[in-house]
Amino acid sequence: MSKVFYLPWNRIDSFAAWLAKIGAADHVRENDFTAIKIHFGEAGNKGFINPDFVKPVASLVSGRKALPFMTDANTIYVGQRADAVRHALVAESHGFTTKNCGCPVIIADGLRGNSGAEVEVNLKHFKKVNIANAVNFSDSLVFMSHFKGHEISGFGGALKNMGMGCGTRAGKYSMHDTLNPSVNESLCTGCAACVKWCSPKALKVSGKKITLDRSKCTGCGECILSCPERVFSIPWDEKTSNVQEKIVEYAAGALKGKRHFSINFINYVTKFCDCYATKENPLLDDIGVMASSDPVALDQACADLVNSKFGADFWKHIFPEIDWTVQLKYAEQIGLGSRKYELEEFL
Ligand code: SF4
Ligand code: SF4
Repeated sequence: MSKVFYLPWNRIDSFAAWLAKIGAADHVRENDFTAIKIHFGEAGNKGFINPDFVKPVASLVSGRKALPFMTDANTIYVGQRADAVRHALVAESHGFTTKNCGCPVIIADGLRGNSGAEVEVNLKHFKKVNIANAVNFSDSLVFMSHFKGHEISGFGGALKNMGMGCGTRAGKYSMHDTLNPSVNESLCTGCAACVKWCSPKALKVSGKKITLDRSKCTGCGECILSCPERVFSIPWDEKTSNVQEKIVEYAAGALKGKRHFSINFINYVTKFCDCYATKENPLLDDIGVMASSDPVALDQACADLVNSKFGADFWKHIFPEIDWTVQLKYAEQIGLGSRKYELEEFL
């Protein structure tokens, strides 16, 4: 049974005091390089974690005479975060500056997303995973994750931030590679909005209809998010469960040999992830922040809390085809943590 700490959103002004009380940086040691892994939000997206919340985390880490920095790895789709230069500029434009946050941004997998190291995990899908260098060479980690819906895993929380978020470009490809979208050409208007998001150039508009070259498709899913006509959809078969398991295996690689702590923000809960470059309206009132040294217990507790506030299975409600428990069950099975938890609310 793991402990999960909870700060309700109506007490968010106490965030810094709460962090100190729960020992959010107790795992950090003197002279550590401490990666604060966070998603800076795609340009145009409003759902990312407010940068003001980083400062108290960085301050606790610095207080232990360690060296904190904010980090994320580049994307495999053609957004504003596919290389380190544009990625850092997006972070800055969203307020993730040294001045605001008390530590600098270092893009984890380098200029072109290929700076990583193979980490042995010896699991069902991967023997080795490719983890971004700035994460791999850190001594300790703090994950700050926005808890919201996700088009492949039902929800995205700490495990998703650790797994998909810490993979290099090659790693991200290997997690997605079996997931080619289904295409309903009859709905296509030929607007070409999807084409620019497809980095391997698998999409082409000819005769005002989209064509998909499956031999080039990496399964990144960006066309699904970018098409206004819902031409693309995820084929709901065992492959989506496999992607969840692969993400969890990458999380195991990112955490291997590291001291770590995770903080999940359950606010601005949207259906799609923060890579979705359009402002979505949140589907729920802001709920709060949860934290734990056990990422499995933490994600389970967040999912449960959302469901109890919603009064039903919210994740099934937004993605009826996805079994969102796959990532939690598999993470528990491979020893990343426990789905059983004890909740401690900040009073
Ligand atoms: S975005 Fe959708 S409608 Fe537009 S070209 Fe692509 S598939 Fe067709
Ligand atoms: S066609 Fe494949 S590679 Fe291109 S955006 Fe869609 S899922 Fe990604």
